Amino acid sequence: MEKFVCIKCNRKFSLNEKIWKCKCGALLDINFKSTFPVDKIKQRKLTMWRYREAIPLLDDNNIISFDEGFTPLTDVAFNGKSVLVKQDYLFPTGSYKDRGASVLISKVRELGIKEVVEDSSGNAGCAIAAYCAKAKIDCEIFVPQDTSAGKLAQIQFYRAKLNKIPGSRENTAHAVLKAAEKYYYASHSWNPFFFHGTKTFAFEVCEQLGWKSPDTVILPVGNGTLLLGAYIGFNELLEAGIIDKIPKIIAIQSVNCAPLYRAFKENLEEIPDIDKKDTLAEGIAIAKPIRGKQIIEAVKKSNGDFIAVEDWEIKKSLKDICERGFYIEPTAASTTAGICKYVEKSNPDETIVSLFTGHGLKTTEKMLKVLNE
Ligand SMILES: *Cc1c(COP(=O)(O)O)cnc(C)c1O
Ligand SMILES: [Zn+2]
Repeated sequence: MEKFVCIKCNRKFSLNEKIWKCKCGALLDINFKSTFPVDKIKQRKLTMWRYREAIPLLDDNNIISFDEGFTPLTDVAFNGKSVLVKQDYLFPTGSYKDRGASVLISKVRELGIKEVVEDSSGNAGCAIAAYCAKAKIDCEIFVPQDTSAGKLAQIQFYRAKLNKIPGSRENTAHAVLKAAEKYYYASHSWNPFFFHGTKTFAFEVCEQLGWKSPDTVILPVGNGTLLLGAYIGFNELLEAGIIDKIPKIIAIQSVNCAPLYRAFKENLEEIPDIDKKDTLAEGIAIAKPIRGKQIIEAVKKSNGDFIAVEDWEIKKSLKDICERGFYIEPTAASTTAGICKYVEKSNPDETIVSLFTGHGLKTTEKMLKVLNE
């Protein structure tokens, strides 16, 4: 049966309860059996909602969508090696976060919720605000004070209430938890519906490869909204017999904030406390990712690995990618810097998939800083 299930005490709840964490306080996942009627899927519109039977929403009338998804899978050369790159910076709000927001806010509408809160270093806030605008749901977005001006403007143009929190990203997370005592928390890290949107990344990749799994996917990771979603998606395709293996997951972190890289490489039981430094990759600078253990388990089970990249490598890769006409934001260039490192040792016949996560137009002041250095 379709249920929320607590990752700690295993309690189950109906998907129609207005909850985002277990009564015991721990994280929830969703138990859901996806099916993939391939012949029907092929006839549908080229959006992420073509995998309708794989998305846990009861009524089509509740779908909040801008016809997003099914982004191009483009062949891009990295140090002479071919990598297939999903153009997820072309989403309506300029990042792949729309995948998660579309499913989560559709479910919020289905639950009859009229007001939500969310916290973000920028892109998730933009995505939640846009889908709430379309759904006519009130939302308040909590962001760190130093969030890119472009993202702040975008959130406000969607008519969301903006709450700038002084201090670190962690201060912002703390502030929203207080608000979440009163309002529904449409969180991209806590709320499992978000991951059942980001999983469509995996569905699209496999369909675009002729219903086959790639050998390797290279993904950025902070809170793991994409990585865990992709892992769920590939596993659902495997369980449904559509693909015969899941790809190896290569997870990219910034050296300046790499708690998961450390836990993985040093085989730690717990996510270590780290001394977080400023990084160009603001979007993945998460010191204490709440789903950290799940992320490490996913990478391990996929036979994958972690790579950490320095800020100078991010800068170099950002310039290189933009010079070729793809205007991505600095956080997205942490992934491309990781790709450059990975392909040094990849096999010639390996099918490698990655993505451009976010659009450069959102972060003009940071782009100018890199340009003028
Ligand atoms: C959200 C985001 C990521 C991935 O971050 P997670 O914290 O792992 O979800 C990567 N790049 C961009 C541009 C993002 O907005
Ligand atoms: Zn529990």
